[in-house]
Parts: sequence; C-alpha cells; structure tokens
Amino acid sequence: MVVKVIPIAEQRYPDRPAVIPDVLETPTGLLSDTLSRPLRDLRISVTDRCNFRCVYCMPKEVFDKDYAFLPQSSLLTFEEITRIARHFVAHGVNKIRLTGGEPLLRKNIEKLIEMLAMLRTPGGTPLDLTLTTNGSLLARKAQSLKDAGLTRVTVSLDSLDETVFQRMNDVDFPVAEVLHGIDVAQQVGLGPIKVNMVVKGGMNDQEIVPMARYFKDTPVILRFIEYMDVGASNGWKLDEVIPSAEVVRRISAEMPLVETQSNYTGETAARWRYRDGGGEIGVIASVTQAFCGDCTRARLSTEGRVYTCLFASAGHDLRSLLRNGHSDAEVESAIAHLWRQRGDRYSQLRTINTEGLAQARRKVEMSYIGG
Ligand code: SAM
Ligand code: SF4
Ligand code: SF4
Repeated sequence: MVVKVIPIAEQRYPDRPAVIPDVLETPTGLLSDTLSRPLRDLRISVTDRCNFRCVYCMPKEVFDKDYAFLPQSSLLTFEEITRIARHFVAHGVNKIRLTGGEPLLRKNIEKLIEMLAMLRTPGGTPLDLTLTTNGSLLARKAQSLKDAGLTRVTVSLDSLDETVFQRMNDVDFPVAEVLHGIDVAQQVGLGPIKVNMVVKGGMNDQEIVPMARYFKDTPVILRFIEYMDVGASNGWKLDEVIPSAEVVRRISAEMPLVETQSNYTGETAARWRYRDGGGEIGVIASVTQAFCGDCTRARLSTEGRVYTCLFASAGHDLRSLLRNGHSDAEVESAIAHLWRQRGDRYSQLRTINTEGLAQARRKVEMSYIGG
C-alpha cells in the first residue's frame, strides 16, 4: 500500500484567510490604516531556521532537535515572494528587508535578491533592499549578495566578549567571525552597515560601553535594541529590559552624545551622534517608548502570512490566494483590505499595562515572522 503524506497547514500559529473584498481596489500607493499610517516597509522572513540559538529568540530548550520547523512545501517560492512583494510595492512599499530565522541559510537567496532588485516603485525608483543577518555566513556571501543587488546589510552582534557572546548565541559561535563578516560587507560596498545589539539586563549590559567604544570613529552605526517580549518562549521579564535612556546615559558619561533628527518618519531608532564627531549610534526603545504611531511596517512570514504587527496573534494567509489561482487584482485588493482594517499598537498598550499584557497574549515567534 502506498501511503500518501498530505502536508497540513501550519497550525502552531492561527491564521485567517485573507479576504478579497467585493469591490476590487486598484493600488494608488496611498493606502492607510485606521490610525492613518501608510504602508511603506515590508519585512520578509525567508526561513524559520537558524544556526544560532540566541537565548532571547530561539532558546535551546524550545528549539531543540525535536522542534518541527516548516516543511519545504510550506515555504513561499521565490516567485511567490516576488509576486507578493510586487503587490506591496504597488501599494506604497519602498523598503524591503529580508530576515528570518537566518536569511543566509535559505538556499540561493541571491536569486531572490536579484528578482526583488528588479522591482520599481510606481514612481520608477528602485527599492531600498536590505537584509538582517547574524553574520555567520556573511564573509562568504557578501560579494554575491552585493552583486545580486542588495543595498545594505544589518548585522546582529550582542557582545565583543567571547564568553558573553557565546552564552547568548548558545552555539559557541566566535565573535571574530562576525567581525570579519562586517569588514568584508563593508569592503564590498554593503555599507553603511548597521550593527544591532539586543541588550538583556544581567546578561550583556556591561558590554554597552565597550561596543560603543569599538564602533566609534568607524562608518558602522551601532544600534541598541531593548529586549522585547516577542513570542512565547523567551520568558521575558520587564526587569531585564535596560531602557534606551540608560544606554545613552552610560555611553554619554564616557563619550558625550547629542540627539539628532531622524532620517524619515517611521524610523525605529532614535539617533544620537558623538559630540566630538566620532559618528553616531541609534537606540530602539521598543518597550519604554512605543513608536506605534509611526509604524508603517508589514511582515510576511515564511509561509505567506501577512502580520500587521510584530505582536499580532494571527496572520492573514496570502499563500492560499496565490496557490488557488487568484488574480493580481484580487491579491492586491486583499492586501488593501487587510491594511485598511489595521489598528495594531501593541507597544503603546504594553506601556500602559506592561507585564500583564506581555504574558496574556498569544504571540508568534520572531524567528517565524522575522524581526
Ligand atoms: N537571524 C538574523 C539576525 O539575528 O540578525 C535575522 C532575524 S532576527 C529575529 C532579527 C533581529 O531581531 C535581530 O537583530 C535580533 O537580535 C532581534 N531580536 C530577536 N529577538 C529579540 C527580542 N526578544 N528582543 C529584541 N530583539 C530581538
Ligand atoms: Fe537566529 Fe537571529 Fe534569532 Fe539569533 S536572533 S536565534 S541569529 S534568528
Ligand atoms: Fe508596529 Fe506593532 Fe511594533 Fe507598534 S508594536 S511599532 S504597531 S510592530
């Protein structure tokens, strides 16, 4: 007897079908949600797998050898990703970030970058096409990523201290290889490089000043991210969050900083520059100073669900529209429909009711929808 295995839809995270409205809507690039926020950025998760087990993201106890990652058949193909991205661009997206999991683990990622690099905004401008990586494969891949059309890269690095870094990535990955990746990316023209450091109190906060010192007077822009209550597996506690104001205070005590203007509306990082001209840093106060009011970001999961907030508990399934043969006009209208209904402002609400809210809601993992 031949046993046929039928892949079932991913049931760990609830989804809702994307709704095609009765009256189809031609994209104008002027879409806005219930809080008048336009749609400008799309983060695309290209894999839910990772070769790190960062304690704040994919803790080993949960993401162990028995963890069921998505089967290949669930993943959007490059053609599907590009088609969805094209529809988002028609609605006003001008910035795409590839993420994951670890995006450089997705086979032939350069091919996808080539396809996305061909997209143009309705005004004919190329997209800002970036990628966030843990840096482990960057030295090897930087040149081919650049050749494929990637504009810039953001690298995550939580410490310069070998013991602390390895405790955080939990797979004994060495600091030097990430630093080498950053250098190579810089050399091939993927700069200005941003380095993201998640600050977890009691774990790596003693590394704030050494990291700032290391990247000062270089073209690299270091950004400090407040440890967030994403997902349900990292055991988040408010007292492990080091407020961005404290980060700025600690650095400024040794290397004085002055606040500067943000580059654009919706920028997540507050920018600070060194008073002596030694470059700039950014702080992302996602917990202590919610920036939901300017949030213009949608996220596309590895298997084609659109999340209108990092903390949303359900995604809108676009993959089934594509796989059931719906037209471009129908998919574009479904995207318009879901964005028009968007009212998410989780971080603002969390500010009002911190830990209760953080624990009460069922949330998706960051490795599933991407940071
Ligand atoms: N693997 C890639 C990486 O680490 O850069 C891309 C995916 S990762 C989910 C994207 C970003 O989310 C990283 O900069 C990571 O440090 C950040 N991140 C993950 N979990 C977080 C948390 N609980 N709080 C704040 N940032 C987090
Ligand atoms: Fe992997 Fe990035 Fe999550 Fe670390 S933060 S476990 S590198 S996906
Ligand atoms: Fe945007 Fe949601 Fe984060 Fe607020 S909590 S900034 S709406 S992703």
